[in-house]
Amino acid sequence: MQSLTNRSKMVSDKKMTFLEKLYLPAIFGGMIITAKHLFRKNNTIKYPEEQRVFAPVYRGQHVLKRDEQGRENCTACGLCAVACPAEAITMVANERKKGEEHLYREEKYAEVYEINMLRCIFCGLCEEACPKEAIFLTDRIVKTDDNRPDFVYGKDRLVEDVNNRIDVSRRQLTGKRKEK
Ligand code: SF4
Ligand code: SF4
Repeated sequence: MQSLTNRSKMVSDKKMTFLEKLYLPAIFGGMIITAKHLFRKNNTIKYPEEQRVFAPVYRGQHVLKRDEQGRENCTACGLCAVACPAEAITMVANERKKGEEHLYREEKYAEVYEINMLRCIFCGLCEEACPKEAIFLTDRIVKTDDNRPDFVYGKDRLVEDVNNRIDVSRRQLTGKRKEK
């Protein structure tokens, strides 16, 4: 059969010479290759001490944003969940009660909002679907874990801390597709 590439090699079944049976030339050849690699520039970095600069459009862990007054932007409309190709988002909506106006921006809010980070493919479609500028992907890395349920992130890990806001201005400028 004709080969599709020129990478195939003919295998010879000729008897090995005495020198080849000693394997020493092959071992020394291997050691020379290893030694050459010692002086090459490393492609790896020592994470987490060293970190690479992310591209402006990098999509990492999500954040649920608050407005200027600290109220949650999300109105539990469900559009992000519908847009999500991985079915990673689930939520339970509730109605805002009297006296909760300082907590939630609109009459409806997400009582439960969860993203399964093991399902998520970080495509950013949830961000694009959101009409309330409530969800953004950030340059934060989802932490590793050895317990599958811990990858389901709830509001405790998604909603930004009111005193420690997450800047998504770069994401708003570069990450989202704008109407032309
Ligand atoms: S980034 Fe994509 S896969 Fe992940 S939750 Fe959003 S829409 Fe779903
Ligand atoms: S994050 Fe946005 S799209 Fe998703 S439920 Fe909240 S308001 Fe709707």
